[in-house]
Amino acid sequence: MINYKEAYAIIGAGPSGLAMARNFQKYNIPYLGFEKHSSVGGLWDVNNPNSTVYQSAHLISSKRMTEFAEFPMKDEVADYPSHQELCSYFNDFADHFNLRQNFKFNTSVEKITKQIDSTWVLQTTNETYHFKGIVIANGNLSEPNIPRFKGHFSNDLIHSKAYKNPDMLKDKRVLVVGAGNSGCDIVIDAVHHAQLVDISVRRGYHFVPKYIFGKPADTIGGKFQLPSSIKQLVDRGLLNIMIGKPSRFGFPKPDHKLYESHPIVNSLILHYIGHGDIGVKTDIEKLNNTFVVFKDGSTKEYDLILLATGYKLHYPFIDKKHLNLKGNTPHLFLNIFPPNEAHLYFIGLLEAIGLGWQGRYEQGALIAKTILAQHKNTKGYQKLMECILKNRADLTGGINYLKLDRMAYYVNKHVYLKKMKHFQAMVAL
Ligand SMILES: Cc1cc2nc3c(=O)[nH]c(=O)nc-3n(C[C@H](O)[C@H](O)[C@H](O)COP(=O)(O)OP(=O)(O)OC[C@H]3O[C@@H](n4cnc5c(N)ncnc54)[C@H](O)[C@@H]3O)c2cc1C
Repeated sequence: MINYKEAYAIIGAGPSGLAMARNFQKYNIPYLGFEKHSSVGGLWDVNNPNSTVYQSAHLISSKRMTEFAEFPMKDEVADYPSHQELCSYFNDFADHFNLRQNFKFNTSVEKITKQIDSTWVLQTTNETYHFKGIVIANGNLSEPNIPRFKGHFSNDLIHSKAYKNPDMLKDKRVLVVGAGNSGCDIVIDAVHHAQLVDISVRRGYHFVPKYIFGKPADTIGGKFQLPSSIKQLVDRGLLNIMIGKPSRFGFPKPDHKLYESHPIVNSLILHYIGHGDIGVKTDIEKLNNTFVVFKDGSTKEYDLILLATGYKLHYPFIDKKHLNLKGNTPHLFLNIFPPNEAHLYFIGLLEAIGLGWQGRYEQGALIAKTILAQHKNTKGYQKLMECILKNRADLTGGINYLKLDRMAYYVNKHVYLKKMKHFQAMVAL
């Protein structure tokens, strides 16, 4: 057993793992990171077998709303950079702060086990370590969520995780299932490569273009903050004026208000639907050899079904009893702290509009400050422990998020960042 009993392990060297490492470095907390892949960047490194990006993937939030505040992206980088740019950015970040030396690459964490004294034993494929605590930063978009369908499809059926470039679409009749951000990107790739492409949707979505008034959409309004209910109305009104109602393009009417689910940030999908290059289909009723039967009774033949049906949380290396699961989602205070676990933390287990990597960085800062406060057993730390045990924090900002698995860890950016600052200050007292 390799003794790191005074140090903390980080699982993963994606944006969240790097944010954690940088904070440990800043606050002089000893750590060792583990990364399955040979380098940093997480899913933004298309060569990482865990990666879920594809040739045409770009940021959905704009660079200034997404970057680490202490390491801005270069001015010459596009507003919505490609995955290659982002992979370079994370490599530069790791080099600039000299973070690589504290990571073990090509090393998968297979198991972590809590000890009687609340320290943790961590097993990789070929070594065993003893750590004081663990930070889980293994990402939440790598384990495919594959729906079950009635019937059988005899042509190709794949999940979008396996989609890397449009070659596999060439001259095929393609059905993309799901209009999330990846689904919409892939459907647009298909316009240029497939023989025909349709998109099957279960519910209506709100679409936001990447630019409004010539500026990245997420920068509109600047630091000016409206109450959530007014912002929902104002922004929906603005979108109605600019692009109209999505139902005009054949999508179902959304069953939720703007921001109650993650909006689709895409300027092209409605454009191509308007040109007749993409067909919109209802939910799938069943599969029948090479045909798909849709819920509206229509039937169509396809060569390839591409499931852009998202991802599910996956923690194969830890006993579920430590996760305080509600459904499939760990129920954690501030999406970071499991109750009854003094030395276990999560970073990056959250989704939000516009929280970016700085949001993950603030989580890292809170974890680091909590560890320092724990060593000194400050009053603030004791207060935090009480809050963790109660495990109640409203992170919605009054928005009634859809009750879906993927929305269970969704937070309101402004509320969340305020909480991060509040608890960072509190633990130090
Ligand atoms: C197409 C697409 C577009 C996106 N656009 C945006 C956007 O515009 N803005 C935004 O903020 N977010 C966006 N995201 C979300 C994205 O998840 C985050 O930007 C970010 O990558 C999350 O970082 P992470 O470190 O939490 O997870 P990941 O990037 O998934 O990194 C996790 C790392 O952990 C490693 N790992 C996993 N398990 C183990 C193990 N057992 N042992 C060792 N290592 C392990 C993996 O190899 C990986 O390197 C997008 C995602 C996709 C797929």
